[in-house]
Amino acid sequence: MKKTNKKHLFINRFIPYFWMLNMVLTNSWGGERSFTELYRFSAPEAEQGVAVDDYFVYVIGTRTIAKYDKHTGERINTWPTEEKSSMVHLNSGVIFEGKLFCAHSNYPGIPPTSSVEIWDAKTLQHIDSHSFGIQWGFLNWIDRYQGHWWAVFGHYDRFQSTLLRDHRWTTLIKFNDDWRPLASWIFPDTVLARFKPMSNSGGAWGPEGCLFCTGHDRPEIYVLQVPPAGSVLELVEIVPIPLPGQGIGWDRNSPNELVGICRKSRQVVVSRLNYSRPILRQGHFHSEVAAQEELNRFARSYSNLVEWQQRAQRLREGILKGAELLPLPPRNALNPIIHSRREYDGYIVENVAFESLPGFYVTGNLYRPAGKQGTLAGILCPHGHFYEADGGGRFRPDHQIRCATLARMGSVVLAYDMIGWGESTQFENYHFPDSHRAFQKAVALQTWNSIRAVDFLLTLTDVDSTRIGISGASGGGTQTFFLVAIDERIAVSVPVVMVSAHFFGGCNCESGMPIHQSDRHLTNNAEIAALAAPRPQLIISCGQDWTKNTPEVEFPYIRRIYGLYGAETSVENLHLAAEGHDYGYSKRAGAYRFLAKHLALELARVVDVNGSIEEQSVVIEPKEKMLVFNSHHPRPARAVKAVEWHTH
Ligand SMILES: [Zn+2]
Repeated sequence: MKKTNKKHLFINRFIPYFWMLNMVLTNSWGGERSFTELYRFSAPEAEQGVAVDDYFVYVIGTRTIAKYDKHTGERINTWPTEEKSSMVHLNSGVIFEGKLFCAHSNYPGIPPTSSVEIWDAKTLQHIDSHSFGIQWGFLNWIDRYQGHWWAVFGHYDRFQSTLLRDHRWTTLIKFNDDWRPLASWIFPDTVLARFKPMSNSGGAWGPEGCLFCTGHDRPEIYVLQVPPAGSVLELVEIVPIPLPGQGIGWDRNSPNELVGICRKSRQVVVSRLNYSRPILRQGHFHSEVAAQEELNRFARSYSNLVEWQQRAQRLREGILKGAELLPLPPRNALNPIIHSRREYDGYIVENVAFESLPGFYVTGNLYRPAGKQGTLAGILCPHGHFYEADGGGRFRPDHQIRCATLARMGSVVLAYDMIGWGESTQFENYHFPDSHRAFQKAVALQTWNSIRAVDFLLTLTDVDSTRIGISGASGGGTQTFFLVAIDERIAVSVPVVMVSAHFFGGCNCESGMPIHQSDRHLTNNAEIAALAAPRPQLIISCGQDWTKNTPEVEFPYIRRIYGLYGAETSVENLHLAAEGHDYGYSKRAGAYRFLAKHLALELARVVDVNGSIEEQSVVIEPKEKMLVFNSHHPRPARAVKAVEWHTH
């Protein structure tokens, strides 16, 4: 009841500002960023800046701090509790690991001295201090980014006659954890001209590795980057913002939400950064330290199953929307083609194709157990970006071995070409592997092909719809966790050497569409893998690629989510520290055992007298034998020449 009242108070307070909602400020600089004001609330302390954590905004006055509930605008706590403050001039701050770190100086004292002042964020008790003494100027803001501290020391024209330094001496310094300077930069002329005669007031590292800075008065923000060479920060863009400078902070749990203050009206102002283009998180998008810190922030944004399920729902929508799969395309007739049955020791191979879109063929091979009656599990085996002289992919010996062995264990296995690989040739100016790499909507088409591959398996009368699994390595690992995240029909998954919080995949088919970030969601591949919960999942990682931290970083995060379902034991990690980026024997052996356990396969059919997995009886076929389209079986006339992805 009490909560409801607070909500009403909150709404009343916000009514005068509703007209501002969705007011997008136009960018006279002609850039690609803009800010939309979301809401604001009164805070008498709003003089210098802010810091933001999961639930609270810390409003920083010249000598005081007040902690507000981010969502209700209610003041929770203030500092100091007694009348006298020991501070001279506080500036903007940041929350890191439960502590509020504030910039502090003796402004407008001469000579300038600076310190970092530290409070317990929970209790607002002052707990520590680090003094720089007389060094670089007046400390105006600090932030934490990529495992380092970043701070700006300001200079002002008004002290020029005494200090012989004007606003141009304002400097950004990067520190280590012991506050030792590692590197520093100054601001470009265009930005300095806008600071003059004052200095840089607020700053915070934001999306896409950009530094967002404010001056003291102008309602605009300067988007900067560390330069590839030299000492001057690079100006990316100047963006209008609905607040007149001062300290700012990003709300790390609400993508692209920037919190600042309006000093004149003593208000906290929350705005959203918008882009006129999609936001991609690609390749080595951020450092390992940044990835760990991001996962910590994600983890703090939910504390029970209901809250996680709300987040999961938002992430699924974001992924589907980013992949242009919301709504899904209409399901056309698959018109499957299956031929050239070969029987080997314990398994059968056939060449198959089906239409995932009208006239566009998904091509592959179907492996089945020989002489087995009753319903069977179905397993998808995407192949990943493993090249070989003749094209690699589904034709590679190790891929044939994996599919055939799973079939010998009693499952129906589909190996299917990634787009532009193998026989997937229906592309404008088809040329392998360029057609694959260049297809902009590869995430959409390839994920859709995986969805249709499940449809295809389920058309086979002996496949059990409750026992569908998927496993692939590298790019095939990406295909694995993408499909599991959005398709509830997948019961068990084994993503191999791909689940990483700091690496997003370098190919268009992994990260070329905005699936990881929008103005509604922010995530990484570790969390996408967690969307499989509570369905059984084995995460296979190794010591020599971007999954090297999995046992310490990604796996604990994912297991905690499984724990919310009471299914902590349904997710496992097989980490092979001495191994590299492949789907080699020891990884396959782990996958066979896990899939056998959860899909009721007969492991005994492939285990030798010593208890080892026996793969020797698999016959490696030449590529020519595995082709679904050849002179005897030409691609049907209804095949389109070049596939296109339309938003449905
Ligand atoms: Zn790719």
